[in-house]
Formats: sequence, C-alpha cells, structure tokens
Amino acid sequence: MKPDFFKRSALSRQLWEFRREFLWVGIFSMIANILMLAPTLYMLQLYGRVMKSGSELTLLMVTLFLLFFYAVMAFAEWLRSRLLVRAGVRLDEALNSLVFNASFEAYLNSARRHVAEAFSDLTNIRQFLTANGIIAFFDTPWTPVYIAVIFLLSPFLGWLSILFALIQLGVTWLSNRLSMKEIQIATDAGNDSYRYVQSKLRNIEPVHAMGMAGNLRQHWYRLHDASLAKAEESQDRQHRQQSFTKFVRYSMQSLTLGAGALMVIDGKMSAGSMIAANVLMSKALQPLDLVVATWKPFVQARTAFVRLEKLLEDFPERAPGSRHQDPFGEIRLEGLSATAEGRKTPILDNLTAMFPSGKVTVILGPSGSGKSTLARCIIGVWPDKKGRVLIDNEPVESWDRMELGPHIGYLPQDIELFDGSIAENIARFAEVDSIKVIEAAKRTGIHEMILRFPRGYNTQIGEAGSILSGGQRQRLGLARAMYGNPALLVLDEPNANLDDAGERSLLDAVNDLRKAGKTVLLITHRPSVLAAADILVVMQQGHIIHCGPRDEVLALLRPTEKKAG
Ligand code: ATP
Repeated sequence: MKPDFFKRSALSRQLWEFRREFLWVGIFSMIANILMLAPTLYMLQLYGRVMKSGSELTLLMVTLFLLFFYAVMAFAEWLRSRLLVRAGVRLDEALNSLVFNASFEAYLNSARRHVAEAFSDLTNIRQFLTANGIIAFFDTPWTPVYIAVIFLLSPFLGWLSILFALIQLGVTWLSNRLSMKEIQIATDAGNDSYRYVQSKLRNIEPVHAMGMAGNLRQHWYRLHDASLAKAEESQDRQHRQQSFTKFVRYSMQSLTLGAGALMVIDGKMSAGSMIAANVLMSKALQPLDLVVATWKPFVQARTAFVRLEKLLEDFPERAPGSRHQDPFGEIRLEGLSATAEGRKTPILDNLTAMFPSGKVTVILGPSGSGKSTLARCIIGVWPDKKGRVLIDNEPVESWDRMELGPHIGYLPQDIELFDGSIAENIARFAEVDSIKVIEAAKRTGIHEMILRFPRGYNTQIGEAGSILSGGQRQRLGLARAMYGNPALLVLDEPNANLDDAGERSLLDAVNDLRKAGKTVLLITHRPSVLAAADILVVMQQGHIIHCGPRDEVLALLRPTEKKAG
C-alpha cells in the first residue's frame, strides 16, 4: 500500500515510482556491506589458520576468496551507483516538462521568485539522489552490524566502539551545525556583491556616459568588503573545526589499537583480532561521517523538494483548453477590471466594450491610462483580473493556448525578441517555414532590409535582438506578430520607433490586414495611424471614455482639443 506521504503530490508520486530501484540499491548495499567484513575475516585467517599451519596453499585459497569477494563488492557498488544515476535521470525526465510548464505559469502569474529556483531545485534533488549522500543513508544501518562483530571479538572493544561512534557523531554534527550558518551567510554576502555588479553591467552605457562608475564602485566596495570578512570568518572556523575533528579521529583510531593491545597483553584476544577490530572500527565510523557531511545537501534537497512540490501544486499541468473553431477575432469585455499587487486603485476599472472582428480598432490615451494592461488582458496574460474577456464569445482562458497561439499576433511594447536567427524569431521558434517567414517580412516591409544583412534570414540577432536598431527590432517584432496570418493582432505601440518609411509600411500592412478580414487592436500615441482606424477607443485612468466609429469619436474629441488649445 502507498504510504500517505507518497499520495500527496506529483513529486511524491514520481518518487514512489522508484521504490523498486531503491529496494535494489538497498540489496546491493547489503551485499557490499556484508562483503566489507571479508578483509577482517582474511586477517583472522592469516593470523590464525595460515600462520599456525604454515600452509601456503591455504594462504593462496583464502587470498583467492578475498579477491573474489572484493570483485563482487566492487560490482555491487557499481551497480547501485548506476541504478541511482539512472533513477536521477529518469526522475528529471519525468518532471522537467512539468517544472517547465509550472515555471511558465508561475512567471505569468507574477510568482517570479519560485521560477528562478525551480530548475536548480530539480537539479538539486537529482544530484542528491545520485551522489554519495544517499549512499551514506544506505550504509549507515550497517554500522551496528560492524559493531556487533567487534563485540564478538571483544565486548570491551565493542563498548568502546559505541562510545567512539557517539563521540564521532557528536563532534561532526556540532562542527557542521556551527559552520553551516556562517557558510550560508558568507555565500549570501558573496552573491549580493556579485548580483550588484551584474545588474549594473546590464546598464553599462548610462553608467559610463554619466560617470556613475565611481559612486557604484563605492557601494560595491562596501558589499565586497562585507563578503570578504564573512568568508574569512567562516573559513577560520572551518579550519579550526577540521583540526579538532582530525585530532579526535586519530586519537580514537590509536586508542582502539592501544585498547586491543591491552587485551592481547592480558591474553584475552589474539593479535589478529586486535587488528581486525581496528579495521572494523574505522569501517563502522565511516558512514557516520558521511551522513553528517551529507546533512546539508540532504536539508537542501528536502527544501528543494518542498518548494518544487508547492510550485507543481500551485501550477499543475493545465488540462488542454477547449477546442474551438479557428477564431475570427471578435473581442468582448464584460466588467473587466485589472489590479496589481501594491496598488490601491485598479489599473482597469470595470470595462465593458466590444471590438468587432475584421475591423481595425485604435486605442489612444495618455501614458499610464492602462492601454498596455488592456492589451495583456485581451491576450490572456494578465494575472490579476476580474470580469471577463471573450474571444468569439469564449473566455480567453478557456481556449487551448497551443490552438489559440498561432491565431494571435502580439507585439508587446518591449518587443521581446529572443536570441536566435531572424528567421527563427519571425517563425516564433517553431520549425521555420521559409515561405511564411518571407511573406511576413514582406508584409512588414523588412524583406530587403533583412537581405542586406550578410547572413540574411540566418543572421543571429543576439540577446533580445541586441545587434538590431530600435526600429529594426520593432519591425521584426511586427513580422513575428504577422507570421502565419493570425486572425487577431494586438499591436502595442508598433510605431514607437519607426521612421516615416516604417510608418508607411505599417499603415500598408494594417490596411492589408483589414482587407483580409483580420481583427487589429492597435495602441498608439501617434495620430498618424488614425487613418487606418475603423473604431477609435480613448482611455483615461483605467476607463474607456470614448469608443465608437473613428470619425464620430474624433468629432467628440475636437471640441475638447479646441477648448484645451
Ligand atoms: P504607456 O502609454 O506609457 O505605455 P499605458 O497606457 O500602456 O501607458 P499601462 O502600461 O497599462 O499604461 O500602465 C497602467 C498603469 O498600471 C500604470 O500606472 C502602471 O504604473 C501600472 N502598472 C503597469 N504594470 C504594472 C505592474 N506589473 N505592476 C503594478 N502596476 C503596473
């Protein structure tokens, strides 16, 4: 029967799938650990039977047996490591797409803190499962077995080994506990200073142009000094502890030998047993050391497990949305409000409107009036909203994203291109269909411009399109939005960086889209695109204050403009 723990979450269920592997790892650990007794038995045989009988044949036989046992032990250890590595890889394979999806969803829902950690959490769990740490957990239960054998050789040495095991556990646990917090503080301080430099390097141009480097360096010095001091403190403590632990370990090893010698002098034990007990003692203490040393990775893996479990629980794999017919792009807003964390007033306040399909709707409004937020609500990427956005009478969330995506063309204000070739970016990183890519480029008037690049459509554009000019980036984003002839285009300030020629191409493209019966929502500050508008929407402070045929709305606006003038 499945214990409750394993019923809890997708992650626990995945781990439960590996129960057979863990059982085998336990069996191989048992074989390896039992065979660890072979050198002890060998020694007893040498000091006992072989030395007494002087038989070379017996020596040869026991040696061959010993070598055989060593080979089996090595084989069992290899098998268990291999099993664990495979299990780790399979666990990763089973979870990575869930983690990938959950990270996307979390990011979309502004739960960004989770996302940065999610992939390292998965790696952490996999590494813990495949590293020495988990092996130590399988080996530790054998410590009592070794101690029991020491008891068989000499009860006095048996008790001594229990005492030493406790001392060793105590010392290693204490030193780990004392140093762990300091190591964490030192690592955090180092990361703070590194992050500070990284974030400033990202915006290096204004830093350099306005001579801000000196001020930033002062701030960085303070962070760096603090991180150096913490690192020094933590290393000092670690070295002190290592020296003490070494002293304890060496003392215990020699004291066992000394105690054994005492027993031999008293005639209570053979010299062979004395050495065998010494070897057994170090074997018994070995996994204890490892378990304590592995405690930190264990705690980290457990934290990673809990965090990942929560992420997968909060953002489970969505059931595929409903399949509808291809959209024709009518947009309806029903009491739509959008909010954001830390804001007292809503960004969009109870909007109700309809943007007809096959028409070009231009949205105007002053900065901060909520135009981009409306665009994001319409395409279904704004997390905190009330009310409904309907695409062809179906709530935007109910559409299957994979189905809907190709029918939507979205140009965000920040454009957001990706590292890759021009063709890949236009084709939205799907398999590149050259005909469609060239068609989209021609529609936005950038085909010739692309051909002027030495590698044409295969030109790598760098991170976020860094090798392109602002206008080129915008037009490439526009071509990406138009790729595959989507039914609904949401263009957020597509002309912000365009020159006259670029604007003319944009107007031509929008007119073509209208002729092709596409729905276009176009956000702008510039009146030049009004010529292309069928419907005009004017927004102010999160409200739609005008919405109607272009000329009617313009007529309403004129007296206000005159008065303002
Ligand atoms: P612009 O014309 O300058 O692009 P806009 O009309 O597109 O402006 P939005 O970007 O929609 O305006 O922003 C509307 C308001 O919402 C602004 O006051 C902005 O500060 C706020 N806002 C936008 N995004 C967020 C966010 N992620 N969190 C909190 N507030 C936000």
